[in-house]
Amino acid sequence: MPEKNVEDEDVKAAIERPDTGDGPGTDNLDDLPESDFAGSSEDDTGAGPQATATIPYDCPVANFIDQLSATGHVTHTSYMKTSVTLHHNAARLSHQGVLEVWKVRPASAHFDVDAAGAVAQYVKVNEYAWAVGNTVGNQRSISIEMANATLAPNWTVGEATWKNAARLAGWLFAKVIGQRPSRSNLVYHHHWSSTVCAGPFMDRIYDQVLAAAQVAYDNFTDAQSTLRPDTEPVPAERRR
Ligand SMILES: [Zn+2]
Repeated sequence: MPEKNVEDEDVKAAIERPDTGDGPGTDNLDDLPESDFAGSSEDDTGAGPQATATIPYDCPVANFIDQLSATGHVTHTSYMKTSVTLHHNAARLSHQGVLEVWKVRPASAHFDVDAAGAVAQYVKVNEYAWAVGNTVGNQRSISIEMANATLAPNWTVGEATWKNAARLAGWLFAKVIGQRPSRSNLVYHHHWSSTVCAGPFMDRIYDQVLAAAQVAYDNFTDAQSTLRPDTEPVPAERRR
């Protein structure tokens, strides 16, 4: 398989590409009121020496958090998160390839989903990633990167990739944000700043992505409620 060469070329191209809009943007943390900080240090995860824990997802999450932190391209300040932002890599990258790009470019995001649909985490979920080119967006949103299946002009994203990104978004809405995904809180990068990210293909399938995230959210919240013995089921006719 020629994947290695594709990967090397795409890493190089992604590093040299100046116009993706990913990165710190106008990030002046000095301007922020103290009340914007969630104030959780959450370092009591007990995951062993130097290994910052990933989210307790029900699928494997590759851990790149400490390696990304070593780049300095993350701000270790925690915020209340209110939305999820989807991106594309603008390249066909592995999890390691994404890290290689961010070692050079001043950018970061919380998660990446690769061509096979596998998830990796780079930034602690409440922290400020250098992701959307907008200070409020970087504070309030959790960013998920997705590998492309094809390059310009369509920048397609494979079904395994976007479906697993939508599923991860559903989990984040259920477990971190506490709201059901909707058009106002599940957004693409271009919601926040001038960029075409996550690309025309993802724009075309937005309704499917949102629906998949809502299904995942409903499943994760249902699973939670069945564990609560003190809730009585509401008769169906009263739900309307
Ligand atoms: Zn982006």
